[in-house]
Amino acid sequence: MRIYLMTDLEGVAGVQNFELWTRPGCLFYLLARQLLTQEVNAAVEGFFAGGADSILVADGHGPGAVDVADLDPRVEYMRGWPKSWPLGLEEGGYDFLAFVGQHAKSRTPQSNMTHTQGTGYLELSINGTAIGEFGQLSMCASQLGVRTIFASGEKALAEEAQALVPGIETVWVKRGTRPGRGDECTEEQYRQRNGSAVHLHPQRARELIREGAQRAIGRAASREEEFGIIPLQPPFRRVYVQRANKKRPTRMYDIAEHADDICALMAMPHDNLRVVESEEQLRDLLVD
Ligand SMILES: [Zn+2]
Repeated sequence: MRIYLMTDLEGVAGVQNFELWTRPGCLFYLLARQLLTQEVNAAVEGFFAGGADSILVADGHGPGAVDVADLDPRVEYMRGWPKSWPLGLEEGGYDFLAFVGQHAKSRTPQSNMTHTQGTGYLELSINGTAIGEFGQLSMCASQLGVRTIFASGEKALAEEAQALVPGIETVWVKRGTRPGRGDECTEEQYRQRNGSAVHLHPQRARELIREGAQRAIGRAASREEEFGIIPLQPPFRRVYVQRANKKRPTRMYDIAEHADDICALMAMPHDNLRVVESEEQLRDLLVD
């Protein structure tokens, strides 16, 4: 049983906002890295206890966030992608995909540090389903026959994961407390918007993650449950809507299609951006 473990920073217990926690040079960046790495180690411990043969830890946060010096020595560590999507998942003959430290998709209410890729995204959807980073990689995994079996992060992400992958094992370690979608926000405003959350203590978070990871692989190995694959229906249509920002005062959108390859579609650039002309057009472009 080979596991690809995707990591991110914004869904880790104790990590609170972009300003002070998520970029090199920020006051609490080194602490944030330690908190993430310990959550990763907890998941690794659970997966090995549950029978995993090998684990690749993918360092998915923009500037990198896993502290390799403190990482469990049994894993392999990946930084940088061989090409774009599906982020090296196509290379290793993996059986299972798992997530640690993941945050919910843009527009999610009650979510902490909410975004998709960056806070410039208003919404990304595939065939009428709005997705975030969890959905992007899980959909690619499905096409490759890799089952998505575990996700930890904030509560809103656990709910997002269960809606997209019914039966997936999830653990939540904090819950955002700000209501509303923030659709009115520019890119810069949205970055500041969702800093409020209630966090579990990091030690408690790690206990839950270790137990959850062990449960997930146990269930996946039992062969009685076939959870983890998203049914995909080609052709695929991707709709991307971008928030206004300092340089560009209007919302923009891009629509792309692919006959049968969702990984290729995910990798296509947003290179045909057009202005969203009206609120009515915006409502038509957005899923919810
Ligand atoms: Zn992210």
